[in-house]
This record gives sequence, structure tokens and C-alpha cells, in this order.
Amino acid sequence: MAVLSRLIQAPAAVRIGPGVAAELPGILADQRISASGRLAVAISEGSGTQLREQLAGDLPADVGWFTVSRASLDAAVDLADRVRADKAPYDTLVAIGGGKVIDAAKYAAARLGMPLVAVATNLAHDGVCSPVATLENDAGTGSYGVPNPIGVVIDLDLIRQAPPRFVRSGIGEALSNLCALADWELSHRETGEPIDGLAAAMARTAAEAILHHPGTIDDAGFLGVLANGLVLSGQAMAVAGTSRPSSGACHEISHAIDQLFPKQAAQHGEQCGVGAVFATHLRGEHALAAEMAAVLTRHELPVTPGDLGLDIDQFADAVTYAPHTRPGRFTILEHLDLSRSRIDDAVKGYVATYAR
Ligand SMILES: [Zn+2]
Repeated sequence: MAVLSRLIQAPAAVRIGPGVAAELPGILADQRISASGRLAVAISEGSGTQLREQLAGDLPADVGWFTVSRASLDAAVDLADRVRADKAPYDTLVAIGGGKVIDAAKYAAARLGMPLVAVATNLAHDGVCSPVATLENDAGTGSYGVPNPIGVVIDLDLIRQAPPRFVRSGIGEALSNLCALADWELSHRETGEPIDGLAAAMARTAAEAILHHPGTIDDAGFLGVLANGLVLSGQAMAVAGTSRPSSGACHEISHAIDQLFPKQAAQHGEQCGVGAVFATHLRGEHALAAEMAAVLTRHELPVTPGDLGLDIDQFADAVTYAPHTRPGRFTILEHLDLSRSRIDDAVKGYVATYAR
């Protein structure tokens, strides 16, 4: 019999909304998620203490608490070692926090062969429901393929307590899908790379919902759309089996900034937003680029290199270096393969268009 559908790795439970952290006991009692009910909970070293006090009542009394210092390969391995060494055998890892804790815990859970439940406390990027862990390593930062979380909980009341910058950043991340998808289409035309229309539909829906939503992070409706969009965006990567639907020239530029100018590095989503508008401008889609820039501006996000604290030369350095951050990925940057002087001109033209 022909196989007419496919199986997709997706979380068994996803809850997004105000107050949904209160549903954690029910979600964690689901035997598909934790058969024995023995839970190891990862939190950050700093803000984790307050979260622990706040959420302890929503968790069984006998959970084991583990702190995570950073989103590095070493910290993730160390977390896995500590969870394994504890005398109580755990069967599920729960990560409560921002991207750092969730990324380290995703990798640790993969190493331990345990399912991970991700409880996000900010909306800075689309990693809460994705099969990728972004971790510092000896070479800078790497993206590691890991299983998708088995449970995803985004309590919008917790999100409202996050610093606004860690929420706005997710807007740039979601919008950058439009750049990633244009790069994917381009690669399909130029190199024959297959497109996965289902993954693309999910990533596009997430981006367009943000592009057209009139609200701000201060209103509950907008926060819900952003949280849903980032989950869809992450899940699109699981559907595609690659970060393609959510990562194109925008992300290459952001990774290049991280590697070349680590001291100036801004939030991932802030950089991806700027990278996405620049790449869209470079592609000649000026109306879309202007629309994206207007959305970033309305949400007080960076649009120009200067907004990111980079001068024109530094941004041109990042654009020049960007293709090296993701060998094998074909985007508008690899397609145009611009000389340094043409990159300089393109960056100057971009800045002239969007300087405020
Ligand atoms: Zn991203």
C-alpha cells in the first residue's frame, strides 16, 4: 500500500494562554509524558530562584531542582551528568525559563534519552517548540539537532513578567520567516532544493500574523498571536526536518554578528529582524521590506545597523561573512555572491533608505 501521509514528531501537549502554568500538574501526570512521575526540573541560576518559589506549588513535591548556568555544550552535558548522578531516577526533564535554560535542557534530555517539557518564560525566539538546541561551543555557537519537546507550556501571565526586550525580540524572529521562506523558494528555483509546503505554510502563517497584527506586546491578544506564531515556527522546523522554514539570510547575518562582534551582539530576534529587512531589500522586494521595517519600528525594534550598535563597515563585514556561518544553505547572499564593494554599496543604500 502506498504511504499517503507522513508521521510528524510533535509535542503530545501544547498549552498557550494566561494562567496555563496552573495546568502543569495535569500535563505532567499524563503517562505519555512521565510514566513514573519522577521529574527533574531545570531552571536558571539567577531568575530561577524566584520562578521556583512561584511555580513549586504547580509541581509535585518530590521534583529534583537543577540549575543551569548558560546555554553552552559544557553546561548542557553537566546538567545531564547531574540529573543522571542523582540517586532518584528521573524519567522526564522539565525546563522552566528562557532560551538558555530550554536549549541546555533540550540537549541534556537528548543525552539522557528523556522527554523534555519546555515551560517558556519569554518569547525571545522560536526555540521553545523546535528540534534544535543552540549552544555555545569551542568554535562560538552551534545548532544541535535534538528531539522536539514532548510538552510545551507558555503561560502568558509569566511572559508578561519578562523584560519587554525578551518578548519584542520574538517579533523579529517570527517576521524573519518571510526572509527564510523567500530564500527557500529562491533555492528551489536555482538549485532544485525541494520545498516542504506544509512547513512553509506554518512558518508563513506565523510571520504574517505578526506582520498584520495591529497590537503591541502590552495587549493579551497580540502576545497570544506571538506565542502561537513562535510555536508554529519552531514546529515548522520539526515538520521540515531542517531549520530551513525559519532560517535564511536573516539568520546567517545574525550568526555572523554573533561571531564577529560578540561584544555588540544584541538579541537573536533583534538581529534576525534587521537581517530579514536587509535581505528583503537586497532581493528587490522594497514594498515588503518597508512593511517589515515599519512593523519593527512600531515595536521599538532595531531596523538599521546603527540601531544594533554596529557601524556600516561592521554590518558589511557581517553580510560578507554570513554565508560562512551556514555552509550549504543557499540564500539571496549566496545567489548574488556580491563583491565587498557591492556589499558596501548595498549596506549604504539600505541605511540611506531606513535611517531615522
Ligand atoms: Zn531564529
